[in-house]
Amino acid sequence: MAAKNTKKVVSAVEAMYGENVFGLNVMQKMLSKKAFDSLSKTMNEGGALDPAIAGEVAGAMKAWAVSKGATHFCHWFQPLTGTTAEKHDSFISPDGQGGVKMEFSAKELIQGEPDASSFPSGGLRATFEARGYTAWDPTSPAFIKEGQEGATLCIPTIFCGYHGEALDKKAPLLRSIAALAKQMGRAGKLFGVKSAAKAYVTLGPEQEYFLIDKEFYNARLDLVQTGRTLFGRKPARHQQMEDHYFGAIRPRILAFMEELDQTLWKLGMPAKTRHNEVAPAQFELAPIFERLNLAVDHNMMCMDVMKQVADKHGLACLLHEKPFAGVNGSGKHNNWSVVGTDGKNWLNPGSNPHENAKFLFTLCAIIKAVDENAALLRATVASPGNDHRLGANEAPPAIISVFLGDQLSDIIDQLEKGEPKAAKSGGTIQIGVDVIPTLPRDATDRNRTSPFAFTGNKFEFRALGSNMSPSGANVALNTIVADALDVMCTQLEADVRAKKDFNKSLQAIFQAIIKKHKRVLFNGDNYTEEWHKEAERRGLPNFKTTPEALQVLEDESTVKLFEKHSVFSKKELLSRYEIYMHNYKSVLSYEAECARTIASTQIYPAAMEYQAALAATVTAVEGVGSKAASAKKLLSQVTKLSDDLAAGIAAIEAALDCHCTDKMKAAMLQTRAAADELEGIVPSDLWPLPTYAEMLFLY
Ligand code: ADP
Ligand code: MG
Repeated sequence: MAAKNTKKVVSAVEAMYGENVFGLNVMQKMLSKKAFDSLSKTMNEGGALDPAIAGEVAGAMKAWAVSKGATHFCHWFQPLTGTTAEKHDSFISPDGQGGVKMEFSAKELIQGEPDASSFPSGGLRATFEARGYTAWDPTSPAFIKEGQEGATLCIPTIFCGYHGEALDKKAPLLRSIAALAKQMGRAGKLFGVKSAAKAYVTLGPEQEYFLIDKEFYNARLDLVQTGRTLFGRKPARHQQMEDHYFGAIRPRILAFMEELDQTLWKLGMPAKTRHNEVAPAQFELAPIFERLNLAVDHNMMCMDVMKQVADKHGLACLLHEKPFAGVNGSGKHNNWSVVGTDGKNWLNPGSNPHENAKFLFTLCAIIKAVDENAALLRATVASPGNDHRLGANEAPPAIISVFLGDQLSDIIDQLEKGEPKAAKSGGTIQIGVDVIPTLPRDATDRNRTSPFAFTGNKFEFRALGSNMSPSGANVALNTIVADALDVMCTQLEADVRAKKDFNKSLQAIFQAIIKKHKRVLFNGDNYTEEWHKEAERRGLPNFKTTPEALQVLEDESTVKLFEKHSVFSKKELLSRYEIYMHNYKSVLSYEAECARTIASTQIYPAAMEYQAALAATVTAVEGVGSKAASAKKLLSQVTKLSDDLAAGIAAIEAALDCHCTDKMKAAMLQTRAAADELEGIVPSDLWPLPTYAEMLFLY
């Protein structure tokens, strides 16, 4: 009996998986062999859809979508706001006899023309060229979003301006994947790979989030407007018991997770792991890794679906990096690797000297890339939300360093020395001769404090914020690794032409890279003060806030890097700088404005009410000839804190007037300090906001 049941459950998942995706299995059934072969080739290798088959594909897609209840289609894209965008068109077309037919043309599939003027362009698009273009990215399949009363066919697209300028986060990502694939192709040739397959990048983004009861969420203007609490006193119990992480999942949360997983599975998103995180009310979802472009689309979808499913369960899903002060924030771990033209993961230490050489080649490229571009990587994770997290002893510091683990560090040491009998594990590593010991995965990843850690067969970039599109960080990562590979391949190709010994050349390249870039390697505790001092001595950059971190986007060397690999033009890159700086200022301003509103319209009046009540008590008590010592003491305390609060409000107003973000931050903290103290003494029935204890423990 039991076995039979198990089988039934498994097959239900299998049946539902990818149900809402126009994937290869559906295409194979619905398309001619010619169209199917052409489209699946495009999906694997990238590039544009063959116009000759576009009509057939559009027809099949529409038939499939309509059979699933879709009434509309949309081009689904990722503008520089960091979220997703869609404009729906219905399939209906008048049939001339008072009725309609459902139509969807090749042109509608391939290209859309949404008005781009309301999306940020950072000066890329003149106002007279308001038109933007969306174009299908066939490497990411179309999918159906189910609404409450209908369904919409979504076509993943890039979004660009009239002259092809990338106005989105997908186009540069695709370009960066192509740039890395190109260099991996050269590397493949050097290492004797015969296949003509394209190299690609893999990503598994782990997503952290909070869930709180929707009622509490709705009762807090700060959460509704800014995504984080601008006020709130730390409750007696928060995370000091360390009992939430991996704890039993409460039934209400489990119900949410079950529906979330099922919705994602239907969308072909391989949700794999779900668990409680460190903070109370904090959770994580991790998918099985996929090709980078698809994994990014799926992560963007996942964040949307999380919010919708939460809403259905009477919950609010908070994706902000720091929704609650004094409680751990949320990040997104970016598990990244690269598959070569041989179809193998080049970050997998091999079991023979040849595989090892490929692994060390890739590893050295990454070490070189990260050291040369630490500031750029830092910039890609800069956001006002993430500023609260990075370096706060709950997330990696803003200093980018690489963790390799003891065994791999030992190998790197030996490679650097390049002289016989130097290392502890017997003899020096010689490329082409020695085999790297198999690195057990758990031996490589004990250090959760590192921003960029080798974890057995991939690197994990841990500094991304939970709310960010993973795109930006991966655009940078792909490009800098492509750049390092470019330099290394050029040298190796020259050595090959000069008929030098291949392994000796490799050895020399590795040695030079390690000597020059080992300062970026660090296996210790990244949270300590000593490391911060040590990193400064080593000359590693440490940008604490977003505006400082973003400066590197304006550097001539950054422009050159992206231009060289055709990922961003100078204009495109500078537009990003402008948009992210603008975003930073906007977020700070609306947070300050929201803090001012809550402080003056909710908290201050509550304090006044209590003050009046206390004053009345004092008068009444003294009126009957008693001493009202404690009430008087409390009254003066409330009065003082109310004055502090009022001073804070005035400081916010002054900061808003002068548009000074640093002053806004300081004034918000000043106001919050008074408010949070008041929260500890004002009677709870007068307090206007749900408390941390309520939000974090009642769900
Ligand atoms: P944790 O980091 O919590 O210990 P794992 O290391 O098992 O968890 O996996 C974290 C994520 O890394 C998962 O999403 C997984 O699919 C992904 N991952 C595993 N191998 C690769 C790879 N070769 N490339 C990219 N991501 C990978
Ligand atoms: Mg991880």
